[in-house]
Amino acid sequence: MKAVAINGYGTIGKRVADAVAAQDDMEVIGVSKTRPSFEAKTAVDIKGYPLYIGKPENEGLFKEAGIEIAGTVQDMVEAADIVVDCTPGKFGASNMEMYKKAGVKAIYQGGEAHDLTGRSFNSFANYEESYGADYTRVVSCNTTGLTRTLYPLNKICDIKKVRAVMVRRGADSNDDKKGPINAIVPNPPKVPSHHGPDVATVMKGIDITTMALLVPTTLMHQHNIMAEINNDVSVDDCIDVLEKRSRVMLVEAEEGLGSTAKLLEYAKDLGRSRTDLYEIPVWKESINIVDGELFYMQAVHQESDVVPENVDAIRSMLEMEKDNEKSIVKTNKAMGIF
Ligand code: NAD
Repeated sequence: MKAVAINGYGTIGKRVADAVAAQDDMEVIGVSKTRPSFEAKTAVDIKGYPLYIGKPENEGLFKEAGIEIAGTVQDMVEAADIVVDCTPGKFGASNMEMYKKAGVKAIYQGGEAHDLTGRSFNSFANYEESYGADYTRVVSCNTTGLTRTLYPLNKICDIKKVRAVMVRRGADSNDDKKGPINAIVPNPPKVPSHHGPDVATVMKGIDITTMALLVPTTLMHQHNIMAEINNDVSVDDCIDVLEKRSRVMLVEAEEGLGSTAKLLEYAKDLGRSRTDLYEIPVWKESINIVDGELFYMQAVHQESDVVPENVDAIRSMLEMEKDNEKSIVKTNKAMGIF
C-alpha cells in the first residue's frame, strides 16, 4: 500500500482523498487544513482521515473547536510516499521547498503553472511522461475535459487545428464570494485563453486556440469545439470512438439530458457521491462534420473530472503500473466510473 498525503482538503482535495481511499493499492495517510471548519470536522469525524494542520499557530483554534489533529503538514509530508497538493492555485510553489526537503514526490493541480513541475499529466495523452517522476501537474478541469475528447478523436481524424469557446461556471457551488451573478464576462478578455496552450502541455504539437467567458452558473462548464481535420471520417466514426472511450459519456438532449442542470440531476440519480460526474458528457446531436471541420459540444463537471486523473498520476509516478489503460480501468472500477 502506498502512503498518500493530501495537502489542502477543499473542493478537489476531499474528492481526491475519497478516490484514493477507494483504491486497493494506496491509502490516505493524512489530509490537511489551515483552520477549523465543517470540512475539517467531517474529515476526522465522518471520514476518519488523520488531520494535519497547515498553520501550526492555529493549533489552539482546532483544540477549541474540538477537532483532533495528528500533527503538522510537515509531519504528514515526511510520512508519505507522495503528496497530492490541492492547496489553492499559486500556493503550490511555496510548498515545493518542503516537499524537496522531505524527499517526497508531489502532484500539483491545474491552478499551478506548468513550469513549476516542467511536466503536466493526463491519463490518456501522456501517462508515461510522469512515470517515475518526482513532480507533475494534473492539468485543469477545462484542459482535462478538452484532452479527454480531443485525444481519441485526433487518432482517427488527424486534427489540423482546433478552435474552442469555453463557457465557464462563475464559481464552484459552495463558493458564495465569487461571481458574476448577473453578467457574461469574457475571461480572460483576450485570445488565446490559457486553456489552449495548456492542452498542448499534454497533447504535444496540437494547434489549438481557445476563448473563454464566465457566466452566472455554478454547476458545470460547457465547451464548443471546432476542429479542422485531415482525414475523411464520418460522424458515426467519431461517435464510435467517443462511445468506446471511458471517462467520456455520449448524452442526448432528446433523452432529457439537454442541459448542465439535467446532467447533474442524472449524477444524483446515479447515486454519485457529492453529485460528481467524472465523465465528460458530449451531446451526441451536436457532433457534426461540415466541410472538413468537426463540431461538437460537451460539458465538464469542474469539481470532479480531474479526480481520477490524480489517482492515475499517483500510479505513474510511484511506478505502480506502467500501462496507462490498466491504471485507468482500475481507477474507474474502484470509483464506479463509466
Ligand atoms: P479550495 O479553495 O476549495 O481548497 C483549497 C484547500 O486548501 C482549502 O481546504 C484550504 O483550507 C486549504 N489551504 C489553504 N491554504 C493552505 C496551505 N497553505 N496549506 C495547506 N492547505 C491550505 O481550492 P480547490 O478548488 O480545491 O483548488 C485546488 C487546486 O485545484 C487549485 O490549483 C485549483 O486551480 C485546482 N482545480 C480546481 C478546480 C475547481 O473547480 N475547484 C478544478 C480543477 C482544478
